[in-house]
Amino acid sequence: MKPIQMVDLVGQYQRIKTEVDAAIQRVIDNAAFINGPDVKEFEKELAAYNGSRHVIACANGTDALQIAMMALDLKPGDEVITASFTFVATVEVVGLLGITPVFADVLPGTFNLDPADIERKITPRTKAIVPVHLFGQVADMEPIMAIAKKHGLYVIEDNAQAIGATYTFADGSKRKSGAIGHIASTSFFPSKNLGCYGDGGALFTNDDDLAKKLRRVCNHGSEVRYYHEVVGVNSRLDSLQAAILRIKLPQLDAYNAARNKAAAFYDTAFAGLPAVQVPVRSTRSTHAFHQYTLRVTDGRRDGLKQHLEANGVPAMIYYPVSCHLQRAYKSVRAPEGSLPVTEQLTREVLSLPMSTELDHEQLTHITNTVNSFFA
Ligand SMILES: *Cc1c(COP(=O)(O)O)cnc(C)c1O
Repeated sequence: MKPIQMVDLVGQYQRIKTEVDAAIQRVIDNAAFINGPDVKEFEKELAAYNGSRHVIACANGTDALQIAMMALDLKPGDEVITASFTFVATVEVVGLLGITPVFADVLPGTFNLDPADIERKITPRTKAIVPVHLFGQVADMEPIMAIAKKHGLYVIEDNAQAIGATYTFADGSKRKSGAIGHIASTSFFPSKNLGCYGDGGALFTNDDDLAKKLRRVCNHGSEVRYYHEVVGVNSRLDSLQAAILRIKLPQLDAYNAARNKAAAFYDTAFAGLPAVQVPVRSTRSTHAFHQYTLRVTDGRRDGLKQHLEANGVPAMIYYPVSCHLQRAYKSVRAPEGSLPVTEQLTREVLSLPMSTELDHEQLTHITNTVNSFFA
């Protein structure tokens, strides 16, 4: 059996090696390392894939969130409602800009923001909502957009984990994740569903005016070189990464299908385990399975993790400490007990290996190892 990793990036590269190597060589031969033609082409191709009017590439997914908030002119004193059960990046950029993060709880099934709790957390200072499409499923965007409209708020989708997922509205219409809010951010960190070979990120919007503002913030606050209209940052996707992403983008649907296939294998194998809840599927969103995350409800999560690791199966806790209890965010921390679902999930979740390259032998070993722990 091939050794099992959380994510097998080498195996994935081997399948596209010829094309990727040629693309990298082409960028080097042309020396168009910054803002080369591959960046523009990739932006267009990703916009077309996603059904978004504009894609603006940038340096990483954390920058993308910060740029979105700068383009919306969010200021110290403004409040942004987001999830605490997420990667810290969302909260970090809010902190960097002096904005106040306000945490809403998540739903125990999908792990995504609870629209009812968002509404409870709105104050006169609230300016934006940042739903995180956690582990590959789109948050319940229809009620979230309705709440935003009612209260005059912006919605920034953190789409770092669900690129390629589709959300269905009550009238049957469909949109890709990242094409629903006013702005969306994503990350091309190597282990993400659409990963590059270094750092990368992008912003999505359907609004022409916001697209202009986002592009300006990315580019030192400038539209005309050496004339700076606003305070900006330097955040670019380099041409090498864009060239690699242009090869991987046409594979994204197949990659997400491979993840779903592994997830279905897991689901079937764990169906009889009373202490294990397999990922609950949203009724509105397809699943991109950035992570396959179990809830272990009998207090044996850490024991299962140790058992897996002792048998050659890596497993990770995403996330062991929620943002509202992190030491770095003391000044904006919410008290322990204030987000009961979030806090319970940090004690119960366990993510199993998930990648496009898991084979039958590996999946069988992983599921047998989980089942033997509870036998
Ligand atoms: C990965 C991730 C980010 C940050 O992306 P980087 O490219 O690593 O900066 C932000 N939010 C979520 C939910 C993520 O998973």
